[in-house]
Amino acid sequence: MHKQVTVKIDLEEKLARYYIWTVGCQMNEADSERMASALEQLGCIPSDDPRNADIIVLNSCVVRQGVEDRVASKLDSLKSLKSSPRNPIIALAGCMVGPKADHLKERFPHTDLFLRPQELTYLLEAVSERTGACLDAHILSLPFKPQVSALVPIIHGCNKFCTFCVIPYRRGRERSRPLEEIASEVRALVKRGAKEVTLLGQNVDSYGNDLPEEPDLADLLHELNRIEGLLRIRFLTSHPNDMSDKLIEAVASLDRVCKHINLPVQAGDDALLKAMRRGYTSEEYRILVGKIRSAIPHVSLSTDVIVGFPGESEEAFQRTVSLLEDIRFDKVHVAMYSPRPGTIAQRTMGDEIPPEEKRRRREVIEAVQEHIAYEINAHLQGQQLEVLVEDKVKGKWQGRTRINKLVFFEDKRELKGELVKVDVEQTTAWSLRGTATQQK
Ligand code: SF4
Repeated sequence: MHKQVTVKIDLEEKLARYYIWTVGCQMNEADSERMASALEQLGCIPSDDPRNADIIVLNSCVVRQGVEDRVASKLDSLKSLKSSPRNPIIALAGCMVGPKADHLKERFPHTDLFLRPQELTYLLEAVSERTGACLDAHILSLPFKPQVSALVPIIHGCNKFCTFCVIPYRRGRERSRPLEEIASEVRALVKRGAKEVTLLGQNVDSYGNDLPEEPDLADLLHELNRIEGLLRIRFLTSHPNDMSDKLIEAVASLDRVCKHINLPVQAGDDALLKAMRRGYTSEEYRILVGKIRSAIPHVSLSTDVIVGFPGESEEAFQRTVSLLEDIRFDKVHVAMYSPRPGTIAQRTMGDEIPPEEKRRRREVIEAVQEHIAYEINAHLQGQQLEVLVEDKVKGKWQGRTRINKLVFFEDKRELKGELVKVDVEQTTAWSLRGTATQQK
């Protein structure tokens, strides 16, 4: 007969430990931060080893097959822990969990909970049942001790249905959080020590379309810009079709809003853009970039590109390379196409480009971009830049400039959360190094 192993955790003697493992985008990081905060309010403490944890959460991503495979193998590796004396609660969270979890239950029978993105209640119920902690209805998932730069989701889901993307199927349709709720959350984060917020969403530019008063991202930026103690505001990800003049004007005029925009282009070839259902041509994208650059001088731009999408000929690929060379982004995230089950591309198109060719194209773009980023950053040498110090890593302070350049410097003072001026002495394609001259 199957023997049930029950572990009673005495909170007086031994607090329950949780371990959260996160892959994927910043939305997942934000969800994990919020889970951690809620678990701590239930009296749990963090563990960096799943073998010592009573609650294990894997926060998953399905954007590419490779990432999904990593999650599956990590989850498989936890199997033996289930029969250990600790008998941890094992939860799979995030985008791997769709509306129906039956196939996941069959595939990972040692997993106790399957939590869709932002779904916290079942986890908290299971933990309170296990630990005996009181599940107060007012448990807030807001981090008690937020990072210097805190992540704040403002809109969940996406309505765009780009043909390669699985997000609308996993995270559902767009749901914006009320403006006042976000503003009061940001005020609370600032009171708890955050200096910067990054507003998150799969498409932040369509923020508010589904709310009764239809506020938009520009309205939200204006509201947050008034919060005392908040030094910087960032947002991502934007969609070229939804980036309004009003939003560009807000970024240009509001002093706390960082002049940095992540604007995924995905490809530089019009037939590919159409097959991806992106809704713009490469010319329209170029015009938008021109408009942004003339309204916001010195703006930094980053983008996302997919290589190896079905039908991407060498000529089409070269058009993407040309677009990157012409626009000269500060940063390019390049991904090799991977068909995701259920998407339009997976159902109706092939995947004819061999992996080694996809890899070659990715490497070509990486090399082109490295050169561009090297040149852009070299112009910053000798300048004095304002850096918000985020943390100390391996003896060096690490922070970012307003235009999102990563900066490292050594300094004996305690500078976490401070704005400092850094004289830039060395630059690479990826980061800057220098000396902090003074605190602001
Ligand atoms: S805009 Fe397109 S790529 Fe971005 S989340 Fe929505 S469907 Fe996916």
